[in-house]
Order: sequence, then structure tokens, then C-alpha cells
Amino acid sequence: MTEPAQSKIRGSCLCAAVSYEVRGSFEKLFLCSCDQCRQITGSAFASNLFVGTDGFEWLSGTEQIVRYQVPGRDISKSFCRVCGSGVPWTNGDGTKMIVPAGSLSEPAQVVERLRIFVSEQPEWAFDLEHVPTHAKFPKTAGS
Ligand SMILES: [Zn+2]
Ligand SMILES: [Zn+2]
Repeated sequence: MTEPAQSKIRGSCLCAAVSYEVRGSFEKLFLCSCDQCRQITGSAFASNLFVGTDGFEWLSGTEQIVRYQVPGRDISKSFCRVCGSGVPWTNGDGTKMIVPAGSLSEPAQVVERLRIFVSEQPEWAFDLEHVPTHAKFPKTAGS
């Protein structure tokens, strides 16, 4: 059985030193609010896509990647040493690439989105769907 041809999309770090190409469709997007993901990203949650290593290819800059491994856990962070952006990394047994969704330069197709470890999310990240939204910076009230 042959797999249908899947288009590839590109991603990179902010300074573009590190770039990659990945199959453009993903089964799941994990939005993880655990304490480690909060600290690793400096944000409310990590947004990670998983893809088999056969669907992933580095295009440039692997020598610029620094990896931090959380001792005793299958959690790590890979980032560009120039700009600090999160970049993809391999899971513990090397079968999957974990792709930070925000590093993609083109739209990805995602079948299912899940928020996980919401029990550990900080109070300031509650009810995000009710936080007022603005297309860009809000206009100042000028008080
Ligand atoms: Zn960079
Ligand atoms: Zn997490």
C-alpha cells in the first residue's frame, strides 16, 4: 500500500539560521500547561505537534541547535543559540520529532487539538477565550 503524497511545509527559528521541512498534516496538537512547559517556553503553554522522523528533514543550521534535557524526565528543549527560538527535537526513543507549532512558517493541517495538564496552568492563563482581543496593539484610552 502506498501512502498518498503529502505536501511538506517549512519552519524555522526567528533568525532563520535553523530551518526544516516537515509533512504538513498532523494527527494531534498538544497545548501543554505543565510547569515544565510553562518555564521552558516562558508562556502559558507549549504548542507541540508530533510527527514520525520519516516525515521530517533539517534544511539548515543544526550546528546552531542547543539542547537542554530535563534530568530524569523525557522532556527537553532545543533552541537556536543565536535567537533563542524553540526548534524541533526528537523524543526519548528517537521515533518522533516534536515540532513547536509556532516555528512553522506555513499553515499546518491538524486533526485534533488537545489541552493537557490544565491542572497546572497559572491563574493568569484561565479563560483565555474570554480575554478581550485586539487585531494589533489596543488603542490607548488617553486618560
Ligand atoms: Zn535562530
Ligand atoms: Zn508540558
